[in-house]
Amino acid sequence: MSSVNVRATRVLPGPAWGELGPVEIAPADEPGPDVEALVVTNEPVDLSRYPSLRLIANYGVGYDRVDVAAASAHGVAVSNTPGVLDAATADLAIALMLAVRRGVVAGDRFVRSGAWATHWSEAPSLGSDVSGATLGIVGLGRIGSAVARRAAAFDMRVVSVRRSDGDLDALLRECDIVSLHVPLSDETRGLITRERLALLRDGATLVNTARGDVVDEAALVAELVAGRISAGLDVFVHEPDVPRELLGLPNVVLTPHIGSGTVETRAAMTRVVVDNVLALAHGEALPTRVN
Ligand code: NAP
Repeated sequence: MSSVNVRATRVLPGPAWGELGPVEIAPADEPGPDVEALVVTNEPVDLSRYPSLRLIANYGVGYDRVDVAAASAHGVAVSNTPGVLDAATADLAIALMLAVRRGVVAGDRFVRSGAWATHWSEAPSLGSDVSGATLGIVGLGRIGSAVARRAAAFDMRVVSVRRSDGDLDALLRECDIVSLHVPLSDETRGLITRERLALLRDGATLVNTARGDVVDEAALVAELVAGRISAGLDVFVHEPDVPRELLGLPNVVLTPHIGSGTVETRAAMTRVVVDNVLALAHGEALPTRVN
């Protein structure tokens, strides 16, 4: 049981949640004069509403909407949930590659529509091999490395860049599939510009399970409408809004930000959030502090 006042923007799934005892559920923008630990899912926090705050515990590894510099300046700790969601997110990136390049979703629609029996000659067009393709991983961190391990089992050739190493433009020119795994920061916002999208080969596939803002979304939509490339997208600039132009395209597979969306992984993320709040309550070092 936590001896600090805890507020969360929503109830988190899994058995660990109950260990916190009573938790107030309220939106992040509602004033919380007594709140000491605030559990968010990447919502921005106006610190002036939280004079007693000591911890912002983010439910997720990406905390790009939390102003960490402001939190640090106010002596507020920030924690996230790294590591426990690597496998689930990497699995989704691979699933999107397979779904896009093998026409899984278009094929499903074709079968459900009944058209297979009556219009078999209009079957979705042939896909492209994933096996043997060259995969470019942009951001070879925890999740990017988990994708690389999976790609090896598919006999893909893997090239990668990280902040400290690699030539992004060369990777974009060279790869059949490009998968994004950088965090969203001032450095990576708009990293995949219109000019960089133009470097992708005809028929290449872009997979984004990182953040929508890492890509110039308008330029990506234009490339997809033109049909020059294909994409598997789990993240968007204005979630839950998705660019309307994408909705009718056969060369795109869309998922609603479900990279970490499994029962097991979400429960493991809750465990990490709870461990951070309990550490605060016990005056111990936070297990996954980011500032
Ligand atoms: P991580 O371990 O910190 O890895 C990030 C990688 O990105 C590192 O290799 C880093 O390079 C690289 N990087 C950073 N800035 C770069 C730049 N400007 N150019 C090239 N590479 C750059 O992060 P992670 O745990 O794998 O998570 C990555 C992101 O995935 C999260 O921040 C989150 O936004 C997203 N995510 C999404 C979902 C979802 O549901 N769709 C789920 C989980 C995570 P260095 O190694 O050189 O530092």
